[in-house]
Amino acid sequence: MAKRSVRDLEISGKRVFMRVDYNVPMEDKDGVMVVNDVTRIRETLPTLQLLTSKGARVILAAHLGRPDGKREPSMSLRPVAEKLSEMLGKPVAFVDECVGDKAEAAANALGNGDILLLENVRFHAEEENNDPVFAARLARLADVYANDAFGAAHRAHASTCGVARIVRAWGGPCAAGLLMERELKFLGDELQSPARPFVVILGGAKVSDKIKVIDRLLEKADTLLVGGAMAYTFKLAHGGKTGRSLVEKDHTGTALAAEAKAAQRHVGFHLPTDTVVAELRDTGRLNKKGKPLLEPVNPRVVSGDIPDDTEGFDIGPATAATYAAVIAGAKTILWNGPMGMFEDKRFAEGTLAVAKAVVAATQEHGAKSIIGGGDSVKAINKAGLGDKVTFASTGGGASLEFLEGIALPGVEALDEA
Ligand code: AMP
Repeated sequence: MAKRSVRDLEISGKRVFMRVDYNVPMEDKDGVMVVNDVTRIRETLPTLQLLTSKGARVILAAHLGRPDGKREPSMSLRPVAEKLSEMLGKPVAFVDECVGDKAEAAANALGNGDILLLENVRFHAEEENNDPVFAARLARLADVYANDAFGAAHRAHASTCGVARIVRAWGGPCAAGLLMERELKFLGDELQSPARPFVVILGGAKVSDKIKVIDRLLEKADTLLVGGAMAYTFKLAHGGKTGRSLVEKDHTGTALAAEAKAAQRHVGFHLPTDTVVAELRDTGRLNKKGKPLLEPVNPRVVSGDIPDDTEGFDIGPATAATYAAVIAGAKTILWNGPMGMFEDKRFAEGTLAVAKAVVAATQEHGAKSIIGGGDSVKAINKAGLGDKVTFASTGGGASLEFLEGIALPGVEALDEA
C-alpha cells in the first residue's frame, strides 16, 4: 500500500519532526570526531531541500552508534550537523538534547525553512524501548511527523514509530520522506510485477540469513543465481565436498527445500560450478574470539569439489561467466549479498564480475537493477559502479526484512496515501 508523501503536505510554518538515518561512520582525528562517509547524509538532501523550500521548520532526529542509553561524547551528532550544514550550504542548528526544555526552546526558535538537528536519541534508553512517555516528549517538538530513515525502519523505537502514533492521535500527518518513498517503490512496488525475465542474485555468508528472502522471491523470480559462502551449504546438501569452507550443516534440509520449490515453480536455479579456494596458514596470532588467526594463502580455482585442506572464498571465473550471461538477458535484477569475501581483493573478482554484468544490463539493455542493501551495495560502491544501477538501497537489515515481506514498524507507522 502506498504511503503518504511529504510532497503532498501543506507544511509552511509547521514544525516537521523527521527521523533520518545519520548513523554514519566516524573517525577520531587528533581527538576530534569527524564524519568518514557522507553517503547517508547526502541521501537526505532532496527531502530537506523540499521541506525547507516549502517553508517547514525542520527538526531532525537520528541515532549514532550504540551508546546504550548513556551520553557518550564520541557518539554525539554535533559533527553531523556541521557536515550537513556544509553540504546544504546553509546553517543547521544543533541542540545537545533531544527532549525537554532545551530541545523545545531550540525547536521553537526556528524560522520557516530553518533546520535543527537534535542530539543522538539513543542517549536515552527509552528510545529503543519505545517508551510512550519519551515518545510523547519527542512529539512535543512536532506538528508533522516524517520518516526518511528506511535503514532504521525495522526497529520499533520511539523515534521511528512511537512518536508517529502520538502525532497521529493529535491529528497531525505522518508521511514518508523522498528517500523512504524511493526505497518502498523499488524494494516493494517495482518487484510486485517485475518486467521479465526477473533474475535474482543472492549471496552472502549464510543460507539461514537469506532463506526467507529466497522463499519469497521464488514466488516471483524466473532465475535465481546463488553465490557467496551460502552456496557451500547447498553443495554439502548434494553430498559435495566443501573442505574448510563456511557451511551450515543444520541447514542442508533448508537448502534442498528451496531447490525443490524452485523446481516446482520452474524457476531456473544456479549454483557455482567452480570456486576460488585458498589454504589456511596459521599466523601465530589469536583472533577476537581467542582462536588461532588463520590467513588464506595460495588462492587457486577448482571445479566441482573443494579440496579438504582449502576454504572457498569466491565464485570461480566459469561461474562468473555463466551468471553474467544470465544477467545480460534480464529485464529486472535484484541483487542481495556478495559472491565471495570481496573485502579481500583476491576474492573480489566474482562479485566485481556480477556488478559489471548488472551495470551492463542496466546501461545497455534497459534492465531495471535493484541492489538490495548491505554488503552488495558496499561492493558495488567499492567498484565505483554505485551510480550506474537503477537503485541501491540504503538499508541493511531493513532491506532484508522488507524483501522477506515483513511489515516494518517505521513504515507501518506512516499514513496511507
Ligand atoms: P551477508 O551479510 O550475509 O550478505 O554476508 C556478507 C559477508 O559474507 C561479507 O562480509 C563477505 O565477506 C562474506 N562472504 C561471502 N562469501 C564468502 C565466502 N565464500 N567465505 C567467507 N565469507 C564470505
